[in-house]
Amino acid sequence: MHIGVLALQGAFREHIVMFESLGVRATAIRMPSQLAELNGLVIPGGESTAIAKLMLSYGFYDPIRQHHSAGLAIWGTCAGAILIAREILDAVPGQESLGLMDITVRRNAFGRQVDSFEADLDFAHLEDGTFRGVFIRAPWIEELGADVEPLASHEGMVVAARQGDLMATAFHPELTGDPRVHRFFAEHVVAS
Ligand code: GLN
Repeated sequence: MHIGVLALQGAFREHIVMFESLGVRATAIRMPSQLAELNGLVIPGGESTAIAKLMLSYGFYDPIRQHHSAGLAIWGTCAGAILIAREILDAVPGQESLGLMDITVRRNAFGRQVDSFEADLDFAHLEDGTFRGVFIRAPWIEELGADVEPLASHEGMVVAARQGDLMATAFHPELTGDPRVHRFFAEHVVAS
């Protein structure tokens, strides 16, 4: 098992540390050619507009789409969830997503009330109680296609979801020290 973390901008180091703590090999991905050896890819949180610009200039869009078609599992956290969504609401003009997962996300959705907060979430399939969600100018998932399973909600809005080998979390599991969502991705989403 080898998981890559897109390392153009944002919270990528924390994901690598988390996978390594589980004994999973994890690598910072800076060039599209590195995608070939991966079973899973994480697109981290950060600023989706900045990550999108860098993805465009490094030529990541088509290679990520092609590798996903060939079996690469993908997990987007926060900005990453925005980037894998089929549709982005409150996008900046021209902001392009990968359009892989059948969800509609709204950028900075909670941020209209408050920029950052933490909340205990009931995360489907995780044992040992609730999961502490760290939300930083987070999106929410406003619409889910028929094949998309909601995994967690906050205040009635879906904040984590899965569609086969795709997963989106609006919050930052890499910032909590709790590896259960990383283990879920490695054991269930990548292996699916
Ligand atoms: N608000 C950011 C965006 O639109 C996402 C924030 C985050 O990833 N923590 O890209």
